[in-house]
Amino acid sequence: MELQKRLSTCWDRFLSCFRKPEQSETDGSTVITNPHAKVSTYNPGPSNPAPPQKRGSNPAARNQYVALYDYSARTADDLSFNTGDRLETLNKDTGEWWFAKALTGISSNRTGYIPANYVAPLESIDAEPWYFPETKRQDAEKMLLAEGNDQGAFLIRNCESQKGELSLSVLDSGRVKHYKLRKLENGQYFVSRTKSFETLKELVEWYSGQADGLCARLGEPCRKMEAPTTYGLSYNTVDTWEIPRTSIKLGKKLGAGQFGEVYEGLWNDTTAVAVKTLKPGTMDAADFLREAQFMKRLRHAKLIQLYAVCTMEEPIFIITELMRHGSLLEHLQMDRGRNLGISDQIEFAAQVAAGMAYLEQQNYIHRDLAARNVLVGENNICKVADFGLARVFMKENENVYEAKEGGKFPVKWTAPEAIHDNTFSIKSDVWSFGILLYEIMTFGQTPYPAMTNYQVVQKVLEGYRMQPPPNCTKILFAIMSDCWKRDPQDRPTFETLQWKLEDYFEMDVTSYDDANRYYS
Ligand code: ATP
Repeated sequence: MELQKRLSTCWDRFLSCFRKPEQSETDGSTVITNPHAKVSTYNPGPSNPAPPQKRGSNPAARNQYVALYDYSARTADDLSFNTGDRLETLNKDTGEWWFAKALTGISSNRTGYIPANYVAPLESIDAEPWYFPETKRQDAEKMLLAEGNDQGAFLIRNCESQKGELSLSVLDSGRVKHYKLRKLENGQYFVSRTKSFETLKELVEWYSGQADGLCARLGEPCRKMEAPTTYGLSYNTVDTWEIPRTSIKLGKKLGAGQFGEVYEGLWNDTTAVAVKTLKPGTMDAADFLREAQFMKRLRHAKLIQLYAVCTMEEPIFIITELMRHGSLLEHLQMDRGRNLGISDQIEFAAQVAAGMAYLEQQNYIHRDLAARNVLVGENNICKVADFGLARVFMKENENVYEAKEGGKFPVKWTAPEAIHDNTFSIKSDVWSFGILLYEIMTFGQTPYPAMTNYQVVQKVLEGYRMQPPPNCTKILFAIMSDCWKRDPQDRPTFETLQWKLEDYFEMDVTSYDDANRYYS
């Protein structure tokens, strides 16, 4: 098993050498939006170095930060603040939560912990409300077109195709236009060579005064979407994994799975969370805690964050971030194509691939990837859930996972080598991803319709594969089929799947047409 994992990793590294180079972004001004472009935020790749920005000469300013989002204190030990408030850090050796003093705003002069990912250094480019570095071109369009932005709304982001370069995206009459921000040899920025600026701030100020050749005069910075997830619930719970059951109030029931029920919950009377309650006897607390040690280290924008657990008594509680729209399966089934279209479907798939590419990088196997285990939040953001739990359940419930007719083993999602030899690997997850793509394209239809689990086990082994679902494009079906290659090593990596899906609408015209040719 270990050897297989290592071989798989080597193979992935080998394949990644052939990864398609980043596609070049259309150069120059007035690039009109792709009408299909709605792909959302993905795994932010390695950060480009932020361009230099003048900082104040005051040495004290080095510890000063500006809040990028509003934050409401969750415990007596942390500080509430609003976007734009200034804070001074007193201790940053405290991990993802820093100890700070509020210099302005509602907590002025008070000290407490703050989530480090909610602030940026004062006078740095990261503190500018218009600087959205890790934002893809398509995401910029989606964000600027979202409600709340008016004519001239804008942002500056890293250019996807040319590392170290920047782009300016501006909302003009319901469309988004993109401009390259170039640099002169002396380091000054310009959109048009006729006028250059020492800093981006000066450039923004100039074009806020007049359009001067841009499609529109710059207005307000693009509105930020939701604040990021904090690392853990609070400073005190980052390392204290087990929390008192009394700190959780259970609210509305959100759903139920094989192993228990899920409720909306309120932690510490302040913070909305999801609480998974496990049927007594479903798993061994010690086994679960061992697995949870790995799971809590897995942090990615496209993975549900595991916040805490209550394992001292039954039922075990697993506390995670709350996703407002429930499972992707329900979301797809409820919509049935009324509001969701191909760009949303690709967006879902690309986000799942991004979360899974992170697990792949961490040498972690999901084992139960399916639309029911992907959760949807605001703005069609979706995240992979329940990673690692299958292993804990399996140990204690081997019979449940036997590939028998009527058994609860997710046979239709599971790769043949996992069913027959119990060989789970990231490549068996890739197989399941192909099935998940089928679920996405059929708005939540059960795979292999009209076939029993038993028939699926037999027929798949003999080489049978599902036909393209209605309205599935050739390119998407080719991706699905690649995931279902008999030899696990012939299946793509999640890294490849991620870029193929993220770049789906960025293809040249010929392949774009091809991408959109449907099977009927
Ligand atoms: P199984 O566990 O049998 O594979 P499942 O994954 O659907 O099935 P659960 O994980 O227990 O079962 O989830 C049941 C339902 O609860 C989901 O379908 C979803 O609607 C809801 N749910 C689960 N986790 C969350 C969450 N973090 N936020 C919001 N809703 C959730």
